[in-house]
Amino acid sequence: METHPSLEVKGSCPDLTIYAGEVTIGEEDRNKMDPKKRKLEKTRITEAACALLNSGGGLIALQMTNKSEHPVEMGQDLEKSLRELIMSSNIQAFFETKQQEDKFYIFIKSWSCNPEDGSTKPRICSLGSSLYCRSLTSKVAMDSREAFEFLKDKKASIKYSPTDDRAPPTKIPRATCQNSLESNPAFEIFQSKKLEYGQRLLFSESPSIEFKQFSTKHVQEYMKNIIPEYISAFANTQGGYLFIGVDDKSIILGCPKDNVDRDSLKTVVNETISKLPVFHFCSSKDKDKVSYETRVIDVFQEGNLYGYLCVIKVEPFCCAVFSEAPVSWMVDKEKGVYRLNTEEWVHMMVDVDPGKRREVFLLCPFPLLRASVSFTLWKSEFITPTENHTEEVDKSGCN
Ligand SMILES: [Zn+2]
Repeated sequence: METHPSLEVKGSCPDLTIYAGEVTIGEEDRNKMDPKKRKLEKTRITEAACALLNSGGGLIALQMTNKSEHPVEMGQDLEKSLRELIMSSNIQAFFETKQQEDKFYIFIKSWSCNPEDGSTKPRICSLGSSLYCRSLTSKVAMDSREAFEFLKDKKASIKYSPTDDRAPPTKIPRATCQNSLESNPAFEIFQSKKLEYGQRLLFSESPSIEFKQFSTKHVQEYMKNIIPEYISAFANTQGGYLFIGVDDKSIILGCPKDNVDRDSLKTVVNETISKLPVFHFCSSKDKDKVSYETRVIDVFQEGNLYGYLCVIKVEPFCCAVFSEAPVSWMVDKEKGVYRLNTEEWVHMMVDVDPGKRREVFLLCPFPLLRASVSFTLWKSEFITPTENHTEEVDKSGCN
């Protein structure tokens, strides 16, 4: 389990409180910040907010680095990132803030999912789904809502698939997908033994074809970075070909043999794809990973070996392929703030119906639901004028 390195949970309070350290508050002061530091602070607060939204609500306590005599607003970048987290402009439905001298508090309600809107709203909040799909000639990251719809469709199609439960649940039978990849103009190039440097391919990018060009000497790093998202996109859509060594104008440039050798190209592809998390709704369980084939084709220039073109042919996947584990957090008094793994995340997204989650929270020994039941009451209970906010937060919640 991956616990958060810089978010601390205050253990002695009945309600969940995350101490998120020192933060610059206020639009004016945040604009003057070093952009890297500003981004780190924003990420830390968004992760804490995500964890609390997903865990029944609670409080984020911040120590302001900037002293301000008068009340300040949080800052546009922070507000924007909280809006994105809840996928709504109605930020006050989930968050309220209060400044007390140099302490700043963000009160967070539980991410509720009413049965009536339950069908369109993801059941948990996430900072990223790590699920991609093809959209014409681009790969697109699915936001939480799209990921939720995608997973729901996959799950539903399993339910209605034929008695052979190992059959792919996609609407297109596997044989048809196979044929469509082989009738694709890219298939002929995929089968080539050698190609000419500067040759123009007779097809362009499409939903099932992507060209990438090595523009770096650090080929392995480049490939490790680009492969996960493209493989996820092709596998989650209708499969396709990733060409590494072809530019946007369909010209074969390959990768110079001085920068890389054949075997290391294949190794980096295999290692990278083997690490991609997958989730099955069908009976394949974890055994079946992404189905793909890699070809490293010699590229010649004036009769001499110049380098290599790497082509990955990706089959459509029965269920879901991720570029990495989804980015979503939860918090609990014992475990602290922790990141969900892929399996936990999918179950939280699609399996648990809102009614059941409510029961789970009500069974907890801590009144986690108080945040959503009586937000204002709870809030006034927390904030009393004392010097040290951590002590005050701890004591006030423990009567
Ligand atoms: Zn499957």
